[in-house]
Amino acid sequence: MTWITNYVDTLQHKVGLRIMNALRQDDEFWMKMALKLAEKAARADEVPVGAVLIDSQGQKVSEGHNLREQLQTSIGHAEILTLHRASKLKKSWRLLDMTLYVTLEPCLMCAGALLQSRIKKVVFGAYDPKGGALGSLYNVAQDKRLNHQIEVIGGFMEKECSQLLKNFFKSKRI
Ligand SMILES: [Zn+2]
Repeated sequence: MTWITNYVDTLQHKVGLRIMNALRQDDEFWMKMALKLAEKAARADEVPVGAVLIDSQGQKVSEGHNLREQLQTSIGHAEILTLHRASKLKKSWRLLDMTLYVTLEPCLMCAGALLQSRIKKVVFGAYDPKGGALGSLYNVAQDKRLNHQIEVIGGFMEKECSQLLKNFFKSKRI
């Protein structure tokens, strides 16, 4: 019977770990990770935007931060780079059932890429009244004329996310 007891113990341990992970790796956990990536962008003199992509199992698939200056390309946004890395890894342009955490509301280009990737959900931090396409200027994620809609949570940890951007632009003005 020992092997059964051991088996049950292992199983309980595994389930326990999974519950702990689920509790820990919640929205706040992933947004904090995206914030760390945004800080990394700021240190590289890039507009501080970071993104993390999570699959339906709650596992990180890819991450990225803004690299527009370094790459000298208008498509060097955190979201595009993160999606591109995920597609390369998964060998698929379809990123079904995945959630993107991003510190700033996606622009039209990134919102388009998110729709094209069939992403399930986007959680973003700061609203972008001058360029946001997931609620501020446009709301393309819920446009029923398109063949895919994305669930959106905006303004999550907004204070931390927008403060980072404010600090960056303030330092640029001095
Ligand atoms: Zn963008």
